Amino acid sequence: MPDPLFHKIALIGIGLIGSSLARVIRREGLAGEIIVSTRSAETLARAEELGLGDRYFSRADEAVRDADLVIVSVPVGSSGSVAQEIAPALKKGCIVTDVGSTKRSVIAQMQPALPDHVHFIPGHPLAGTERSGPDAGFAELFENRWCIFTPLPGTDAGALEKLSEFWRRCGSNIEIMDADHHDMVLAIVSHLPHIIAYNIVGTADDLEAVTKSEVIKYSASGFRDFTRLAASDPTMWRDVCLHNKDAILEMLARFSEDLASLQRAIRWEDGDKLFEMFSRTRAVRRSIIEAGQEIDVPDFGRQVVEHPAGGKS
Ligand code: NAP
Repeated sequence: MPDPLFHKIALIGIGLIGSSLARVIRREGLAGEIIVSTRSAETLARAEELGLGDRYFSRADEAVRDADLVIVSVPVGSSGSVAQEIAPALKKGCIVTDVGSTKRSVIAQMQPALPDHVHFIPGHPLAGTERSGPDAGFAELFENRWCIFTPLPGTDAGALEKLSEFWRRCGSNIEIMDADHHDMVLAIVSHLPHIIAYNIVGTADDLEAVTKSEVIKYSASGFRDFTRLAASDPTMWRDVCLHNKDAILEMLARFSEDLASLQRAIRWEDGDKLFEMFSRTRAVRRSIIEAGQEIDVPDFGRQVVEHPAGGKS
């Protein structure tokens, strides 16, 4: 094994993302020591049973002492309180990053709390599943996925390069953009699809003319593909909606206009319009497969893939 990139990495939050990081850090030998911290005694005990770290703390400030990399992996609405808790204990020159799905709000919460003597580099790995908790993670989660950084003006180039190297060794490709652009892009590629899925599954659950047992029984016709997204963690997604409100509302307005146009085409039996649109969208899926972000297997997402770490996707 080459020398570890970091002497001591502190993972604050050890759910799907934190525990996947713990596993890949161990596999790749990226840290001399892995410190795990989470607020609840149950999750901390489970992380210890799974052997995710070398030392375990329920207090985040105790966990970050002497760490040269701190990764905050908690719901975005809690980033500010975590930053306040760790701030007095951070070592001079340490890199502090996060994995939150929204960036403008995380920066607004964390930056004012963190001391000037640390390198704060906001990040977001575009990798996940609908599962949560320390059992859900697996070392391969970040492979061939993008990790986006939204560095603040004046960010130290050496610190950014070191963090980029860390994520490359976790298997990711790096992209850099500003926080507002990140939030707009993610609103369409991630946040809107989840909101639509939550909505359609909720609508089906509320229907009176179609029974619940029929919805379940005939779900393979399309409905179940939405249920995977709609099974995602409620706390995480509540926070995403509240913390990327403007971009999500803008995308929802566009979506509603396009839906109204589709509705009109159906009402007026405009088959050409429907065919043209459905052909255009089919090409989008082909591009995603060509970009290596999906595999061309008809029922991907329904097969159970076992991961060496015990996780499944
Ligand atoms: P998760 O599996 O639900 O784990 C959440 C972790 O955060 C747990 O350790 C939990 O601690 C801790 N936590 C929860 N509420 C907290 C609070 N109020 N204060 C301090 N700690 C708290 O979540 P995850 O999927 O790993 O998501 C973590 C972050 O990654 C989120 O910001 C999310 O936006 C981002 N992200 C998620 C995905 C995805 O697909 N899931 C993808 C990319 C980025 P306890 O269990 O001890 O309560």
